[in-house]
Amino acid sequence: PSASKGNALDNQMAQAYSRPPSSPARTMSPQILDNALGAVGHTPLIRLDKIAKLNGLKCNLLGKLEYTSVGGSVKDRIAKAMVEAAEAEGKLIPGKSVVIEPTSGNTGIGLAMACAIKGYSVIITMPNKMSLEKEAALRALGAEVIRTPTEAAWDSPESHIGVAQKLQREIPYGIILDQYRNANNPLAHELTTGPEIIEAVVSTPSTPAHPSSGKVDVLVAGAGTGGTITGISRAIKKTHNKDCVVVGADPRGSILALPAELNNEDEGLAYVVEGIGYDFIPDVLSREANDIDVWIKTSDEDSFPAVQMIMRNEGLLVGGSSGSSLSAALQWLKGDEGKHVAETPGKNVVVVLPDGIRNYMSKSWFLKIALEAEPTPLAKTIKDILHPV
Ligand code: PMP
Repeated sequence: PSASKGNALDNQMAQAYSRPPSSPARTMSPQILDNALGAVGHTPLIRLDKIAKLNGLKCNLLGKLEYTSVGGSVKDRIAKAMVEAAEAEGKLIPGKSVVIEPTSGNTGIGLAMACAIKGYSVIITMPNKMSLEKEAALRALGAEVIRTPTEAAWDSPESHIGVAQKLQREIPYGIILDQYRNANNPLAHELTTGPEIIEAVVSTPSTPAHPSSGKVDVLVAGAGTGGTITGISRAIKKTHNKDCVVVGADPRGSILALPAELNNEDEGLAYVVEGIGYDFIPDVLSREANDIDVWIKTSDEDSFPAVQMIMRNEGLLVGGSSGSSLSAALQWLKGDEGKHVAETPGKNVVVVLPDGIRNYMSKSWFLKIALEAEPTPLAKTIKDILHPV
């Protein structure tokens, strides 16, 4: 009898698998990877249809979901690229080199992962405001972590950059790969993130249910070092659609946006969202007029509700800066310039979602979203059943 039960189950499963899937799966041919670095990137592009509908958009709103990269963020890609480039140049010696990097955490996690695999020591310098979750992940991967005052100016000796430089001067075989200046940062996005987005859009056919222009019409991303937005923009504009509108998200308090007057009012304002915005212009952030077309200033007040909107409606457990990208996208689509895109079926608007909630589980902004949200109708039903008055 157990054999026939097994057969029945096999039949059921065979049927389940022969049914057309409700949503096509990501195709990556299964194979054994040499190590975790083979699972960096290759992230999905996902329709955010419910959010589009809630906001009255007729265009396609698409999220590039970077937390599915193996280390958990968009920055895995540059960590891998910078380490491999330094190796090719003979700058890293296994068992000897000490990779030192100032970061808001995600580049550090990518580097610590790569260096754990390859046998280099790692020291990460990181401002105090960055989450405990990032520090724990870094230490779990074997990195040393040094915290620095969040308010220290970038060029002061106390800042995460200043402390990294001091350590590099003193520690034998210390090397800073320097995401703020390393050309492999934007290049990693020009060669991987950008082409993945383009390929997903180009290879998804236009259908009556989901019309598509076949092009990336708008790209929205936040900027920290600026490597992500610069590299993706170059890939799209050089090889795919020179007319794509690239929209940068920059938090109020940061000075990355152009024209510079956009930053005047709030310069120096503290904000909670991690990983975007700076008090200096990193070399890898393109200032060429054509690479980033428009800047939108974002705030904590807009970003965290946007994170909640993504979680509740699309089932995606994204981090804070993903809310900033979405809020910038919605601001632009509702403004004078973006309105025509918002109203045109088939226009493809891609929003970069840089990391996941793993990095922020203990942050009060997340606990508010998760635990203090409005009770659902179902919560009331449950209460009435279990605790009738
Ligand atoms: N969001 C998060 C969570 C990040 O860690 C980073 C990297 N600092 C960014 C966005 C911005 O990426 P980039 O440095 O490429 O501008």
